[in-house]
Amino acid sequence: MNIIPYGRQNIDSQDIEAVSRILNSDFLTQGPAVEEFENAFAKYIGSTFAIAVSNGTAALHLCNLALDVNENSNVITSPITFAASANSVRYCNGNIFFADIDPETLTLDPEKVVELIESKPKGFFQGIIPVDLAGYPVNLEAFRKIADKYGLWIIEDACHAPGGWFTDSNNVQQNCGNGVYADLAIFSFHPVKHIACGEGGMVTTNDKALYERIKMLRTHGITKDPQKMKRSDGGWYYEMQELGFNYRMPDILCALGTSQLKKADEGIAKRKVIAKKYDDELKHLNLELRSCPSDKGHAYHLYIIETNKRAELYEFLKQKGIYCQVHYIPVHKLPYYEELYGEQHFINAENYYNRGLSLPMYPGLSIDEQDFVIQCIKDFYE
Ligand SMILES: *Cc1c(COP(=O)(O)O)cnc(C)c1O
Repeated sequence: MNIIPYGRQNIDSQDIEAVSRILNSDFLTQGPAVEEFENAFAKYIGSTFAIAVSNGTAALHLCNLALDVNENSNVITSPITFAASANSVRYCNGNIFFADIDPETLTLDPEKVVELIESKPKGFFQGIIPVDLAGYPVNLEAFRKIADKYGLWIIEDACHAPGGWFTDSNNVQQNCGNGVYADLAIFSFHPVKHIACGEGGMVTTNDKALYERIKMLRTHGITKDPQKMKRSDGGWYYEMQELGFNYRMPDILCALGTSQLKKADEGIAKRKVIAKKYDDELKHLNLELRSCPSDKGHAYHLYIIETNKRAELYEFLKQKGIYCQVHYIPVHKLPYYEELYGEQHFINAENYYNRGLSLPMYPGLSIDEQDFVIQCIKDFYE
């Protein structure tokens, strides 16, 4: 049986050639391909700086470290995200608070965030981690206003949204992760994401101080920059100035990233065609589709439907070789967080979780394959 997954990488001969070139070069890691990828990615997103790291989770961890998250920090995120968005705060011993989602966009609801902030003493919270779920661009301008009012930082988890954008109140198109409204943004290059490197991640920012700190923390907190060192014993000398990690992304994978990035716009265009076809073909069925207003650019990492018969539909499609997925099990319901914080309820997040299903969505999904998926869904309902 031909298996159709919900997401899949798209690797071509140019990608393979790009990787082979590195394998035959002088540097497998810490060579020129890293900066090449960083520069190309920053240009694509429209941020001033980009730092390539070993994966999206490492990117989140480094952001939290650079923002000095510690055991006294309280940070807000969405319950509907991959666990890593919350876990990264826990790595630094900070506390995670969830605010409910907006059921229209499935992203963190700014009003719920304000309610949560107002329910605690002044200065209780330090930051917000909004997530561009499924590729739907969060209105970061709204979050910036909240952040400024209450003195918070913002890390945008843009793993689903390279190529996504929203229009701000000045009618300017703001790309997800461009650093205009968020202090830091992060991306992942896991194979199901838009840009596939196997493993890999990126931090983007317009803040020079954060950029420099994250770059150092990526390599053990070590610097060789004469201007930053306390002294110099000779050419071999370096200084480890704070406790960092090895969160580097190797040249082999960065070269793959640069090659993948060249096809990113084409990939988004293809995702939009696939989404439009699902929209048109499924709208008459007894299920809910998610819409995106025309002043926003959806990156369509996922195509999510909602249905009261989610479990039955999931199983029905699986029997046909169509492997859908649910994004996500609410983070506050994961046993680790339940044990840590006790039972919590976020009604919109839980309603969504009971009904949501992500259909196959990736640029390599053929017309025949999508037709088959659509036909199977129609068969299920008829
Ligand atoms: C994939 C993903 C991550 C983690 O990225 P990895 O590269 O797998 O570590 C974090 N947040 C979201 C929303 C993701 O989808």
